[in-house]
Amino acid sequence: MALSIVFASNNLHKINEIQQLIPSELKLLSLDSIGCYEEIPETALTIEGNAILKANYVTEKYGHFCFADDTGLEVEALNGEPGVYSARYAGEQKNANDNMQKLLKNLEHSTNRNAQFKTIICLNINGEQHLFEGIVKGKIGFEPKGNQGFGYDPIFIPDGYTTTFAEMSREEKSKISHRGLAVEKLVRFLTSM
Ligand code: IMP
Repeated sequence: MALSIVFASNNLHKINEIQQLIPSELKLLSLDSIGCYEEIPETALTIEGNAILKANYVTEKYGHFCFADDTGLEVEALNGEPGVYSARYAGEQKNANDNMQKLLKNLEHSTNRNAQFKTIICLNINGEQHLFEGIVKGKIGFEPKGNQGFGYDPIFIPDGYTTTFAEMSREEKSKISHRGLAVEKLVRFLTSM
């Protein structure tokens, strides 16, 4: 019997990408397709907490199996900031350029440029909850470089590379990225069920 599972997102690009990696009997549904048009609260104090909040919201309110992801950039010299506040680091306008400029300013006098992107995926299925983590370590550059990707990509240089995420192709980035790694673990779990 075909099984359907909601991905708590309306990003069709992300949904299609994951759909292609899992068996076709497992059908991914967007939030729109189950009639969930409201904004799901993301009020937790951690990345894990927000992924769990989003997945539980859908499972509890709509009764569907569901997975949700949440991501943040954690900077060592800033005690893990912006972390769970990555999207709105410079304010509720959620502007990527403003966020990068604020981060660069806060690191102006810092020689420690270590940082990591962390993605957590929370899956609710068959009455169980599973968490999958993807981390990529790297350094914060001194100025934005490249125009691919989004968010903090122009200032994040993954370890082992000399270019920022924004200077890489989408394929190259997703092979090593936090989200790519977390999705790989999720897909491995779903295909082994
Ligand atoms: P979300 O949980 O995927 O919505 O990510 C929250 C925020 O983290 C985004 O608004 C971006 O600022 C940042 N972010 C997440 N993933 C990436 C990425 O792959 N590159 C750069 N920034 C990212």
